[in-house]
Amino acid sequence: MLKTNHVPEWNADVSLLGYGAMRLPTVKDEDGKEKINRAEAIEQIRCAIDGGVNYVDTAYGYHGGESEIVTGLALKDGYRDRVHLATKCPSWLVNEEADMYRLLDEQLAKLGVETIDFYLLHALNKGHFEKYRKFNYQKFFETAKKQGKIKRACFSFHDDYAAFSDIIADYDWSMAQVQFNYLDDKNQAGLQGIKDAGKKGIGIVVMEPVRGGALANPPAEILSLMESQPVKRSPVEWAFSYVTAFPEVKVVLSGMSNMEQVRQNLATFEKLPAYNESELAFFTELKETYAKRVKIGCTGCNYCQPCPMGVVIPQVFRTYDEAYRVGNIPSCAWHYNAMKEKGTFADKCVACGKCESACPQGIKIIDNLAEIAGQFAS
Ligand code: SF4
Ligand code: SF4
Repeated sequence: MLKTNHVPEWNADVSLLGYGAMRLPTVKDEDGKEKINRAEAIEQIRCAIDGGVNYVDTAYGYHGGESEIVTGLALKDGYRDRVHLATKCPSWLVNEEADMYRLLDEQLAKLGVETIDFYLLHALNKGHFEKYRKFNYQKFFETAKKQGKIKRACFSFHDDYAAFSDIIADYDWSMAQVQFNYLDDKNQAGLQGIKDAGKKGIGIVVMEPVRGGALANPPAEILSLMESQPVKRSPVEWAFSYVTAFPEVKVVLSGMSNMEQVRQNLATFEKLPAYNESELAFFTELKETYAKRVKIGCTGCNYCQPCPMGVVIPQVFRTYDEAYRVGNIPSCAWHYNAMKEKGTFADKCVACGKCESACPQGIKIIDNLAEIAGQFAS
């Protein structure tokens, strides 16, 4: 049996494992464009529901807008009544108050449903939230609830703890969807934000529990540390067991892109072992071992900014350190290409020295930038 949580604030029983419809299987159409393989996606979503998953999460923006349509199709033939459906308002498309109302109606039509159980403002950060405040988002939520178009007002989040605190203090939210895993317990909302939300009766839905897959394939030294434990778990099981240890966490989303993942996740959540306090020490050891793998140790304090040449030093170093930490150096390339296109990459440094005197960590910024620029020259 798949583990479920009874959430009094939601008056609902929800499966701990939720289906995230952001990485559905795809095929190329006749023009070579990627689109969802609808038959496979529908089969996968229904297989998960048949296996006990009763929380399905999509968004206006997933798969270029196709995810909501396919999710809606998957929920036909009686499946709609078996799940809690979540989708999100595309914050980047809200330019006036009326947009929120128009987009919600569009989403209901695309999904082919009467009501959305969890309606989220997508990817809230300080900037988006200021905009929603200006457009009276609270009135929008109250109106949509009265009209029966949504059941619960929620948000997903990508910013820092201060922004999270501001948002949860502003309204009577039902749920917050946050990025959380054993390496991100101090990033974004962090564990502190999760606990604050819990005290206010805001249920937490976790995204990126395996950090976009990075925690599923850890470097060899992390793997051997895991294998040295008396409890035997796969890296994915360790990652899931961490996030499900906190009572504030009601649902853990997994973006399942093939049937094997669906089956593996169902099996994992059926036998997910109860987390115990003694494992806290192991996660601390795990985090310390990961932390020792970084090359530069930039804290992201920003004291070295701005650079007269526009080099985004903290971002360059963070990307590099992160890649070493999880043992995936090629993963830097995409970010560095984006920085090169914007003209903010390490190769713009002219060694003026302005930044080094400002760095409290004493990092040899010029040498490190030169090394990174050389390594990622092509
Ligand atoms: S040394 Fe390089 S990175 Fe530092 S401020 Fe000067 S140009 Fe910018
Ligand atoms: S001042 Fe030093 S530690 Fe702070 S962001 Fe810049 S390089 Fe990193």
